[in-house]
Amino acid sequence: MPIYEFKCASCGQRFEKLCNIGENGGKFTCPKCGKAGPGRVMSGFASKGSDKGGFAGTAGSGCGGCTSSNCGSCH
Ligand SMILES: [Zn+2]
Repeated sequence: MPIYEFKCASCGQRFEKLCNIGENGGKFTCPKCGKAGPGRVMSGFASKGSDKGGFAGTAGSGCGGCTSSNCGSCH
């Protein structure tokens, strides 16, 4: 069973619960204030930062002397 993260809409408390796939957390209650029906939070990835960058030079057509993928300006 996956662990989903929930956030209470009332007090903002975040907590994790083991859920069956497809459950939306409607049966859970906030451990802090007791409000039912917390919202599910998508967690674990893509929560911050960027997935771009970090792959310079992997295009295969550079010459080694430049970081461009087509090095049209160095020959
Ligand atoms: Zn709460």
